[in-house]
Amino acid sequence: MSGSAPAAPPREPQAPPEVPARREKTGIEREAERLTPVEFDRGKAPYRRVLPGVLLAPADTVVAMARKSSLWPLTFGLACCAIEMIATYMSHHDLDRFGIMPWPSPRQADVMIVAGTVTKKMAPSVKLLYEQMPNPKWVIAMGACAINGGPYTRYDRVLQGVDKIIPVDVYVPGCPPRPEALLDGFLALQRKIMAERSAVG
Ligand code: SF4
Repeated sequence: MSGSAPAAPPREPQAPPEVPARREKTGIEREAERLTPVEFDRGKAPYRRVLPGVLLAPADTVVAMARKSSLWPLTFGLACCAIEMIATYMSHHDLDRFGIMPWPSPRQADVMIVAGTVTKKMAPSVKLLYEQMPNPKWVIAMGACAINGGPYTRYDRVLQGVDKIIPVDVYVPGCPPRPEALLDGFLALQRKIMAERSAVG
């Protein structure tokens, strides 16, 4: 007995699925859509996702903030301006609140306050003390004598400004400057440290 299966009937073409007709939005709907505030998913900063409570900041900013908040001025005075400098360290003005601690050795100090008249006899010692301080270091010229000789501008034996022998960062004018002026000088120095943080490194 022989035979074969009947051939399958040809498949009839099927109609494509019906696409619902797009309805035009009414004007009110369009206006409501326009006025609806769009909310973006802003996500979270990486430090919030990975380590909550960790603050990211450039290293030079952190180092500069540490430096400006822990200045150690070298304790030495040259003339009457030194009395005002000493008064600034006392409790009434209280430099400690800025993290400023007087230090009696140039090996650890990072600020030199030139407070008083710099005679040419004293100038080499001032320069030597400056060179013994480690980098980075800053100098405040306190008073008219340290800035340009002050009342001794015609005296041959007086240096006409300490910036003739060492670089000066902040000038505090006055004869003598009051403690508030020296405090202002320190604040100016702190701003300078922050401003020059990239250059100092
Ligand atoms: S500036 Fe005036 S107060 Fe200061 S050391 Fe000179 S003379 Fe004295």
